Amino acid sequence: MATLHATAEPAQDPAYAIAMAQFNAVADRLDLEDGLRALLGASKRELTTHFPVKMDDGSIRVFTGYRIQHNLARGPAKGGIRYHPQVSLGEVRALAMWMTWKCAVVNIPYGGAKGGVACDPKNLSLGELERLTRRYATEISILIGPESDIPAPDVNTNARIMAWIMDTYSMNVGYSVPGVVTGKPVDLGGSQGREEATGRGVAIVAREAMRLLGKPLEGARVIIQGFGNVGSNAGRILNEMGATVIGVSDSSGGVYNPDGLKPSEMEEFRAAGGRFCDYPTHKCITNAQLLELPCDILIPAALENQITAKNAPHIRAPLIVEGANGPTTPEADAILAERGILVVPDILANAGGVTVSYFEWVQGLERYFWDFSEVTTKLERVMTQAFTEVAALSQREGVTLRDAALMLGVQRVAEAIRLRGVYP
Ligand code: NAD
Repeated sequence: MATLHATAEPAQDPAYAIAMAQFNAVADRLDLEDGLRALLGASKRELTTHFPVKMDDGSIRVFTGYRIQHNLARGPAKGGIRYHPQVSLGEVRALAMWMTWKCAVVNIPYGGAKGGVACDPKNLSLGELERLTRRYATEISILIGPESDIPAPDVNTNARIMAWIMDTYSMNVGYSVPGVVTGKPVDLGGSQGREEATGRGVAIVAREAMRLLGKPLEGARVIIQGFGNVGSNAGRILNEMGATVIGVSDSSGGVYNPDGLKPSEMEEFRAAGGRFCDYPTHKCITNAQLLELPCDILIPAALENQITAKNAPHIRAPLIVEGANGPTTPEADAILAERGILVVPDILANAGGVTVSYFEWVQGLERYFWDFSEVTTKLERVMTQAFTEVAALSQREGVTLRDAALMLGVQRVAEAIRLRGVYP
């Protein structure tokens, strides 16, 4: 058997360090009781699994996966599953904590969770990917379920992978359980509008933030780091709203054109397996260069830890809308606030995905499905209401949108715990 993926000390993980620094700052601000602070600063359950997968060449490889439930005070656990070489216990812990605050900010009845497998799906065949998914789903089946913990797509996972998880879980219990995952294919009980939901939510809050700044969205220049599910849908919808996408990237590099790029062409290129560093007709730029280009709206939509103390002084966008989870470090946050750059934080900006996941779960439980316009109308209402509440709190308390969103989220979870009491 091949060697196990080495797991770094979770406390050293940069994403976990960001999540804890943010939480500790808001706990201080809210003057949270010691017991609640200790409870909310830790995960409720953490599952680590090392599991074997038969590879196409007949060998057996052992992969490491996680499923972490951070807090269940407000309802079943909810959170995506990520496949990426850098997945680690600390990263998944941070992402699960952010899910708890996010569900509370948009006021949907879920707790926070996250899962992940340390792997590079680019180096797996379709068969290997399916066997890895089915084995991982079986390993975490002691935690997941439609009433207990409901996974969804995240980086490098999609509707097809959700279908395999749903099928595996269903085979193990002996009947079909579509409600065990969201982000499923529509033909299998998925929701209209789920695939684009996170990107649509990002576009809606970007529009609201521009309104707050008193600037027109029409003609606003947008740069997107990470043109995957979230980034590409945000780009397409912002384009439909009148903005102009001038730069996009993937892990290989970026494409920039100050006169505007066509999101549909970029999407076609990406869907055909193209890497932006090979994009014809344009010179390739690095992700570091892309983040520092002048624009009106910068959307980091790739991974954590992208805007740091190093590049924050050079960001030339007056507005950052966080499509990704945890893209900005606390040090960078302080620099951006000092420079008057408005940041719409991840737990608000990318909450459209979990909101439509919630709609999907509700439709599945009711066995009654809504059309696309009903989904987007309801999403629009949830996102604009959450934005309005966070912006009002930020103004009232004289804090950043991030601090306001965290205050709102942490406060709601703390209140649920106080109402439920401490068992026994
Ligand atoms: P995805 O796999 O569809 O796309 C990720 C994109 O980021 C790809 O284009 C990839 O090439 C690029 N990328 C990866 N590493 C990069 C790097 N170092 N520099 C630049 N680009 C890089 O993933 P996604 O679902 O779009 O998720 C993107 C982010 O949004 C993640 O932080 C995820 O947690 C967050 N998010 C996703 C959802 C969802 O519904 N999918 C919901 C909320 C938040």
